[in-house]
Amino acid sequence: MFKKTLFIECPICKTKKHPDSPRELAGYFYATQDNGSVVLTECQCHKKWMLDNKALIQASKNNIWTNEKDLKFSPFEERIGKRDLPEIRKIVSYVENFTGSEEFREASLYIYGEARTQKTTLAQWIGLSMALKGYSVYYNSMHNFIINLVPTGFTDIEKYKVYHNRMIEMDFLIIDDAFNCHQANIQTYQLPYIEAFFRERIEMYKKGIIFVSCIPPHKIKENKFSSSLQDFIEKNLKKYKSLITLHDTIDMVDTKGIFEGIKNDK
Ligand SMILES: [Zn+2]
Repeated sequence: MFKKTLFIECPICKTKKHPDSPRELAGYFYATQDNGSVVLTECQCHKKWMLDNKALIQASKNNIWTNEKDLKFSPFEERIGKRDLPEIRKIVSYVENFTGSEEFREASLYIYGEARTQKTTLAQWIGLSMALKGYSVYYNSMHNFIINLVPTGFTDIEKYKVYHNRMIEMDFLIIDDAFNCHQANIQTYQLPYIEAFFRERIEMYKKGIIFVSCIPPHKIKENKFSSSLQDFIEKNLKKYKSLITLHDTIDMVDTKGIFEGIKNDK
């Protein structure tokens, strides 16, 4: 359950406040109108805090990390290893420049890397950043996604429809452990549903998907998925050059240490 972040008054409302104001009025101040009347006014910083917290509550319900530590996460500063920095720059630029334009929306991101390459952390950071920009975001493992998407019988078919529609409506959909047949335990009868959903979301509604995977896109087929699905995903990634490949693992030793900056001039 998400706990509201601590509210800190900005210099504007802090200085405009009467020293005897009760604590509950943090983020509000008394402003004198043109006609001389004094009105209790909500400061911009408090408005923003309220909106951020509303977004965070929603995000936490949709499996996005929202604790204090995550809120302070910086993809550059906390990245272990240097090799992937150009890829991280791409992701940060995508997040910073994202507009609702069709081109941006239709592009899928495919974050590929072997185990422990910090993929999920990055995907969660994207999700959290977009939630704070006011977009709806949902995070799912592919295993859970399939279980909730594909009906297994005729009982409660409505439940699957609701989930399907929700996953279409979301501005951002993050699917982790994607296309890993061992993780997702794929059954043949599920394949048409999965492919139909991806095509509906991406082609019809022009909304990409953020895939996080230890399977490179050219091996989707090898993981029991259809070759038409692999072609479809690869085409989207080629069009938008949106395949991100990561190498640095969390086990890497930081080589900087105490010798950084010492000149080797014998
Ligand atoms: Zn303020």
